[in-house]
Amino acid sequence: MQTLVLKGEEALKKGAELIRAGEVVAFPTETVYGLGADAFNEVAVRKIFEAKGRPSDNPLIVHIADEKGLEGLVSDVSDSAEAIMKKFMPGPITVIMKKGEKVPLSVTAGLDTVGIRMPSNAVSREFIRECGTPIAAPSANRSTHISPTNAEHVFEDMDGRIPLIIDGGESEVGIESTIVDASTDVPTILRPGAITAEMLAEVLGAVRTFSGKVVVAKAPGMKYKHYAPSCETVVAIGAESATKAYDDAENKGLSPVVIARSSTCAKLGGRTHIDLGESDVEICRNIYAALHRGEKIANFIVCEHFGNEGVCGSVMNRVMKSAGGKTV
Ligand code: AMP
Ligand code: MG
Repeated sequence: MQTLVLKGEEALKKGAELIRAGEVVAFPTETVYGLGADAFNEVAVRKIFEAKGRPSDNPLIVHIADEKGLEGLVSDVSDSAEAIMKKFMPGPITVIMKKGEKVPLSVTAGLDTVGIRMPSNAVSREFIRECGTPIAAPSANRSTHISPTNAEHVFEDMDGRIPLIIDGGESEVGIESTIVDASTDVPTILRPGAITAEMLAEVLGAVRTFSGKVVVAKAPGMKYKHYAPSCETVVAIGAESATKAYDDAENKGLSPVVIARSSTCAKLGGRTHIDLGESDVEICRNIYAALHRGEKIANFIVCEHFGNEGVCGSVMNRVMKSAGGKTV
């Protein structure tokens, strides 16, 4: 199969045609690129799992353009779900609610709940509107690889596997949506993201952050290896330990690279590095592109620990998985 990469009106028109014909299309969102299909078309949804090589017990997120899109998708909107939607949608958040009857079980991996997201990215919204149906989508990477934040990342993983990639430039947020389960009494964060626990607590009074044993695959990255570059990756706390990890790797004959914020890069004595910028927002936006670049130019990645506060905590949630938990 030939994989087209298109922009603008032409891309949206062609994308919507393909979706209506039961095909899979990659599209941009503010978080990461998604691999979408008509959420009500069981056969189309199965193609997503095939293209990604994703286990079928890992559910997808259903994307809508506006509140009208909720019709038929959910059977109950709890007070907390309502409050989250009012404050944070459209935006980088997914709310888990009780599913409607029409949603195929392949979308929810057999669960009686469904994840709903309303992207703020203008291209995603136009695309979903043009399709005229909710779009089920996970991130547009091969299962376990790094999530894509531009069309080129998607092409590297999906060339020959899907008919079309809609190119909408770089994802502004850069990591996957915050996932909140609002189907239970106390809303629970299943995956941290750019909308933090503190921000949610302001609206909800209290949220639970996920901790404890994993029984079923409820949130990504808990049961499966995720966000992993193709080479060994470690996390280093501060410039000094990053430098040491780099030198140790080089002494073993490896070609290392350090991924860090600007002020840390300045302390690396000219060692090969990828500069993410200084602010938390820049670090979040650039982290996946840096991991993509890192695995290309090096065979050992040392990533700085950015701390566990606010959005950096969400970035570290991904980076620690990339590193398989390995800190030096
Ligand atoms: P991705 O963003 O590529 O990891 O794909 C969507 C993610 O949303 C999945 O990995 C799920 O963990 C999560 N998700 C979707 N629906 C549900 C649900 N009903 N309950 C819990 N998590 C969900
Ligand atoms: Mg994913």
